[in-house]
Amino acid sequence: MTEIAPQPGIMEIAPYVGGASNVDGVENVVKLSSNENPLGPSDAAKEAFRKAGFSLHRYPPSDHGALRAAIGEVFSLDPQRMICGVGSDEILALLCQAYAGPGDEVIHTEHGFALYRIGALANGATPVEVPERERVTDVDAILAACTERTRLVFVANPNNPTGTMIPEAELSRLAEGLPKQALLVIDGAYADYVEGYDGGARLVETRENVVMTRTFSKLYGLGGLRVGWGYAPAHVIEVLARIRAPFNLGTAALAAAEAAVRDTAWAERCRTENTRLRAWLAEALAERGIPSDTSTANFILARFASREEAEACDEFLKSEGLIVRRVAGYKLPHCLRITVGDEPACRRVAHAVGNFIEGSR
Ligand SMILES: *Cc1c(COP(=O)(O)O)cnc(C)c1O
Repeated sequence: MTEIAPQPGIMEIAPYVGGASNVDGVENVVKLSSNENPLGPSDAAKEAFRKAGFSLHRYPPSDHGALRAAIGEVFSLDPQRMICGVGSDEILALLCQAYAGPGDEVIHTEHGFALYRIGALANGATPVEVPERERVTDVDAILAACTERTRLVFVANPNNPTGTMIPEAELSRLAEGLPKQALLVIDGAYADYVEGYDGGARLVETRENVVMTRTFSKLYGLGGLRVGWGYAPAHVIEVLARIRAPFNLGTAALAAAEAAVRDTAWAERCRTENTRLRAWLAEALAERGIPSDTSTANFILARFASREEAEACDEFLKSEGLIVRRVAGYKLPHCLRITVGDEPACRRVAHAVGNFIEGSR
C-alpha cells in the first residue's frame, strides 16, 4: 500500500462521463447527448479563429480585456465585474476552491449539474443535496437546508437536465434569505435560450452575495474551444483573479468568443430555431405517449414509464444512430435527455421514439 494519497474528498468523486459521440457499426450518427448547437458557431467566430492561427507564437492577453468589453457592450454589463474562464466549468471550480473547504457545506439541488458536487468534494467540502419539487428548483427547501456552514449554493437556471427554470423573483427571494456567509451561484449556461431573461445579471449588480456564470459552449456553439465567464460583485472578482491561471484562455479561443458574442444576428437565429424545434419535438413526443416538462433550454427531458422502458428506448435509438443522454446519475433513471437538434434530427428522433413505443407498449 502506498502512503501517497490525495486530499480527503477526492476519491469520493465519481469521474464525470461526457455524452457519447459514436456508435460502433452505425453510420449517419446524430449526437444529441451534449446539448451542442446543431447549427454550429457563427461564421464570424470561425473566421476569427482562423485568423488567430497567424499569431500563435504570441502569449494571449491575460486580462481578457477585449472579450470582456465585447460581452459588456452586447449585454449592457460592467466589464470590471467579469472573469473569463476555460468554460464556465473553470469559474465553478474556482468558486469552490476560493470559498469552500473542509467543514464547509455546498448546496446543490436534487437533479443539479454533476460539477457542483465534484467541485465541493475536490476541495474537501461537503456537498448537500436539496430536493426539487417535481423537477423544479425549490427555494424554500434550499433555505431550509442552509446552516452556518453553508458557503455556496448552486442553482442552474434553466436547470440541466430538467430544462425547467424559476422566475427572477424566486432567485431574488433565495439570495435575500441566505445566511450572510453564503454565496448564491446562478449557473446561466442555458440563459441565452430564454427570451428576455438576463441570467441573474441585475441581481449580481444589486447584491453582494450573487454570482452568475455563463458559457460560449451552448447557444454560441463553441463547446470545443472552452470559453465561459462569470459576473460577480467586486469582492468576488478580486478573490477569483488571485487564483486564476493568468493565461487560462488561448488567443484563438478569446478571438472566436469575441466575434461570436458580437454576432447577435446569428445568436438570435439559433435561439429562434431552438425555440421552434423544441416545441415541435416536445409535442411530437407527447403525441407518442412520452411527456416532458416545459423546457426553457436546448434539450428536452423525456419521461418514460419506467427505467426499463427508458433504457430500452435508449438502446433502440442508438441502433438507429441517435445518441441521447441517460440521466440515471441525476436521479432520473426513467428519463432520457434529448438535445434539440436541427430539423432532420428532430424528425428522426420523434419517428424513432414512435416506432419504439409502438413496438413495445
Ligand atoms: C454545459 C453546462 C455548463 C457549461 O460548461 P462549459 O464548461 O462552459 O462548457 C455549465 N453548467 C451546466 C448546467 C451545463 O449544462
